[in-house]
Amino acid sequence: MEQTKIALLGLGLMGSGMAGRLLDAGYPLSIWNRTPGKTQALADRGAKVANSPRAAAKDAQVVISMLADVPVCRDVWTGRGEALVDAAPGTILVESSTVTVEWVEELDRAAKDHGCELVDAPVTGSKGQAEAGQLLFLAGGQASTLDKITPILKAMGRDVVHVGPVGSGARLKLINNFLSGSQAAALAEALSLIERSGLDVDKALGVLTEGAPGSPIVKTLSGRMTQRQYEPQFLLRLMAKDLRYAVSEAELQDLDLDMGRAALRVFEHAITAGQGEEDMSAVIEQFRVRAGSTR
Ligand code: NAP
Repeated sequence: MEQTKIALLGLGLMGSGMAGRLLDAGYPLSIWNRTPGKTQALADRGAKVANSPRAAAKDAQVVISMLADVPVCRDVWTGRGEALVDAAPGTILVESSTVTVEWVEELDRAAKDHGCELVDAPVTGSKGQAEAGQLLFLAGGQASTLDKITPILKAMGRDVVHVGPVGSGARLKLINNFLSGSQAAALAEALSLIERSGLDVDKALGVLTEGAPGSPIVKTLSGRMTQRQYEPQFLLRLMAKDLRYAVSEAELQDLDLDMGRAALRVFEHAITAGQGEEDMSAVIEQFRVRAGSTR
């Protein structure tokens, strides 16, 4: 049976790994990325490189986007990238970027105008999970549409959760990252308190990570924070973006996310301090005592 033709737009830390998994699974894949250099390794493995989102999506039956944020997704899908312009009726669009529910609904309307269907399918897991095909997809859309793309999502992930109608995946993903970002910010404060007060760092972290506060993200980030490993797995500025979107989404539900706002302040301060392009674990640096100055 002929394999579904797929286009993947966005080959950053996540998109590159996802594209690799699709090639491993034998799907014919066309790829596009703003910075063309990132396409080479995938082209060497058989991906077809397109010079625009529109060209990438033209003959694809499924078009997946894994881009930074809402303005970028809008520009690529319905703005200058024109990804939708030549998409054939019946094409399934998959928005895997972490974005707002509002954007997903806007894209859904544009998809319908073109006779296409949309599934929002953001992911949990990071760069390593994308490379290993171990992502978890949080999918919003019609069950019949999701059924058609489930084998494709499973080529990139360990599982697919059908959360509800279009927009539900994005909504749950923002809640997920609100909770993750809040824990990361709280951990940064807790660890710097440990460091400043002279406690034995390994002993203290052993107690915390093996006890009630030891969530998977606390376990992972505490190691990176103590070893000052800031090579990006998840860019700090993107976590700030997700917290911003989560706070706005909650406002639409008449809920003020106090914890989300506090975490966002911590991440924004790190960006101001120049850490936006590092891994989110660098969020601790602002609290570390430097040459007499403290925060
Ligand atoms: P990334 O490495 O920064 O990649 C971002 C992608 O967006 C790249 O392809 C980048 O192109 C593109 N892009 C940025 N600005 C653009 C613009 N103005 N015009 C066109 N393209 C643009 O980020 P990532 O970690 O792969 O994240 C991608 C999405 O997945 C984000 O929504 C993120 O929140 C989400 N996510 C990330 C993780 C994680 O752990 N990393 C986990 C789950 C979800 P260039 O290569 O040209 O810069």
